[in-house]
Amino acid sequence: MRITLALDLEGTLISNALPMDCTARPGLWSFLSMARRQFRIVLYTNVFPRRARASLRRIVRQGHAPAWLARVPIFNPPCPSGEQEAKDLRLVGPLGRVFIVDDSPGSIRQDQRPFWLPIKSFWGEGADNELERISNALMQMFMDIVEGMRFEPWTLDAQKILDAGRQIYYGNDDLGEHEVIKEYPDGKKELVTFDFQTGKEIFLKHYESL
Ligand SMILES: [Mg+2]
Repeated sequence: MRITLALDLEGTLISNALPMDCTARPGLWSFLSMARRQFRIVLYTNVFPRRARASLRRIVRQGHAPAWLARVPIFNPPCPSGEQEAKDLRLVGPLGRVFIVDDSPGSIRQDQRPFWLPIKSFWGEGADNELERISNALMQMFMDIVEGMRFEPWTLDAQKILDAGRQIYYGNDDLGEHEVIKEYPDGKKELVTFDFQTGKEIFLKHYESL
């Protein structure tokens, strides 16, 4: 299960995509490094791809972002114009498997708001810790996803997954913080958790429900 995180460009990662006047948001490097451990990263912007790519290269060159950022796939709404236009996440991947960090409510389709992580607009001012805040929200969301798909929009049919020979993950009220039950198709259950730094699963013990 690989979830895609779509990132807006202007006002979210950088101040704006103008060649001579582009400021990287504070905390950009550590935010991107964290996000990439757990998600597939793409850019979803109203800025034309060529100009967006140039901006990414510039902030990488300036040492504000890891080199891979300059190579991420870039998506545009159907008619990129630099004006506000709603982004359809289905362009990027199946609904429920794509989330977006974006500063413009107008960029988000009404019916896709459950998949939106709003961030305050950044226009180059010095003090700003929004990316750090979003990092924490993403970690929580990552846990929510593995805890049995507990949000309605991306609920999956657990039995179908088991029937297909794969494991499912879910939580219950008796578990400790960040503990998750992993159930195999043969009924075996384990208690596991996840290392937030690496996204790796950690076996805790065999689990028997009471
Ligand atoms: Mg924006």
